[in-house]
Amino acid sequence: MNILLASNNTHKKEEFARILTSHTIMLPSELNLSYDFEEDKETFTENALGKARALQAIAPEGYLVLADDSGLCIDALDGSPGVRTARYGMEEHGRMLKSTERNEWLLKNLSHLEKAEERSARFVCALALIAAPHRIFTLCESVEGYIALKSYGKGGFGYDPVFVVKEAGKTMAELSEQEKDRLSHRGRATRHLITLLGEL
Ligand code: IMP
Repeated sequence: MNILLASNNTHKKEEFARILTSHTIMLPSELNLSYDFEEDKETFTENALGKARALQAIAPEGYLVLADDSGLCIDALDGSPGVRTARYGMEEHGRMLKSTERNEWLLKNLSHLEKAEERSARFVCALALIAAPHRIFTLCESVEGYIALKSYGKGGFGYDPVFVVKEAGKTMAELSEQEKDRLSHRGRATRHLITLLGEL
């Protein structure tokens, strides 16, 4: 199936393409579509649905629309940054931070907590799939872990260098692509999607 991903993030596209091998994943930019969505909802699922609907409104026929909204929920921060993960540190700095700056800001804010169990967190991924105007599916998955004391590893993107996957004992940036796909929030969610797409 041809799937249009409601994102401008090439890393997300690569991850979906690695797992959804029998489908073709495209970004709006590859179809010259100008896509943007303000992530202003209170849950990952509502944001994913909003992204999917915004893209579906301008998508050509013949494409399923898929959206992903992800984020980091840190227990010591009462579940923040959550749906504001992409904008973490923006208020304090007056501008959107780059990934490396956001990671440094997060490590600084947790520096008073030294034990892994005090730095517990989960990465959440909500997916919304619009197969037809009245065939809309959502699902949500997560992976448990904790925030590292410093950045480790060169793989992946975003918060990968600071998020330790509990099951692996390594940051997501230290995992191979295959390991990240097997263990990550997005990998887990996308495997449910394979089943769903098969049924469609
Ligand atoms: P969004 O889903 O595009 O809104 O992403 C929220 C934030 O989480 C952004 O800062 C992303 O870079 C980050 N993010 C999303 N998925 C991942 C991931 O798999 N690893 C690391 N960071 C991620």
